Amino acid sequence: MEQYVPDLYKKNIYIIDYNKLKTRGIKCLLFDLDNTLVPYNEKVPSKKNIELFKKIKELGFKVILFTNSGKRRVKPFKEMLDVEAIYRCFKPSPKKFEKVLNDYKYNQSQVAIIGDQILTDVVGGNRVGITTILVNPVSKKDFIFTKFNRHREKKLIKKLSKQDLFYKGRYYD
Ligand SMILES: [Mg+2]
Repeated sequence: MEQYVPDLYKKNIYIIDYNKLKTRGIKCLLFDLDNTLVPYNEKVPSKKNIELFKKIKELGFKVILFTNSGKRRVKPFKEMLDVEAIYRCFKPSPKKFEKVLNDYKYNQSQVAIIGDQILTDVVGGNRVGITTILVNPVSKKDFIFTKFNRHREKKLIKKLSKQDLFYKGRYYD
């Protein structure tokens, strides 16, 4: 069951302590897009997104959008947030995670994934041994395929709570 448990759990991307991540040795942040940055039907980043990304880049992090969505969806985010982007990641597949580690020569302890889904973001990150940070989805609306995952996630969280491994709304870092 450990593969489903995030290393950190925060309400949203704005209250993550990025300085603390830095002191832990994290150098590269992989950001999920849909429902982590904006609802899946928003076409451009919010002002708040832009401000946050500016701040974390100034802290010295390498920031990469890391999404299962396609190129066209990611383009305005990549451009307006001025970061790199990897699309069609097929999370929880470890492939693109491993590609980041290899291409940029990071070791697992230097990379973190931040996302809103246990079954894609957390499981994928845990598979390759990077730091996993779960946040609550920014919107209740989900893309059709995500709806199915969200249903599975709900049942999973129940199980995790029973085993005292994870509770919805009980944040930690
Ligand atoms: Mg997401």
